Amino acid sequence: MLNIVIFGAPGSGKGTQSERIVAKYGINHISTGDVLRAQIKAGTELGKTAKGYIDQGQLLPDELIIDILASTLDSFEDSKGVIFDGFPRTIAQAEALKKMLAERGQEVSIMLDLDVPEDELMTRLIKRGQESGRADDNEETIKKRLVVYHSQTSPLIDWYKNDGKYQHINGLGTMEGIFAEIAEAIDKI
Ligand code: ADP
Repeated sequence: MLNIVIFGAPGSGKGTQSERIVAKYGINHISTGDVLRAQIKAGTELGKTAKGYIDQGQLLPDELIIDILASTLDSFEDSKGVIFDGFPRTIAQAEALKKMLAERGQEVSIMLDLDVPEDELMTRLIKRGQESGRADDNEETIKKRLVVYHSQTSPLIDWYKNDGKYQHINGLGTMEGIFAEIAEAIDKI
């Protein structure tokens, strides 16, 4: 089982690189952001709740997102592993993921930290907002998301270092070059 946590600030390229990992390694992909956006589009109760948080650049409550993750995980059959994209984002979520996988006789194989300088994140997200119309990719909300990243999510770097799973990836460069570094790290597991 190949269980990969793809980690990084908003705009670090998690989604793009996840697609490539899925194509090369044939594992399932969970993007909590995509799940929430699909719920918003479908107009569900969960979607309405999620929209409130996302538009403010805030994280959803841990219990809610952990439940979503557990049910998505259970929906996979004959899985060769999973790439977790956008989860965990807090220490509580990382602990829940560890427990969830342990209950299934599994563990996180590697945590890939896509490291991108702050000014580049800002440029990428503003461009994405203009091209995709994603509501949370506007300057004000991006700034809030970066603050949330630094206060609530970046402590996971040390958490995964302590867990012996941390792998730094230089997130600047061509998509191919970054993917080559990722594949090299995965192939060494
Ligand atoms: P990005 O990495 O660009 O911020 P995502 O698509 O991963 O975008 O997430 C968009 C938003 O969805 C987040 O800003 C947050 O409000 C919510 N969200 C996604 N994943 C989680 C999570 N694991 N815990 C709490 N909220 C989440």
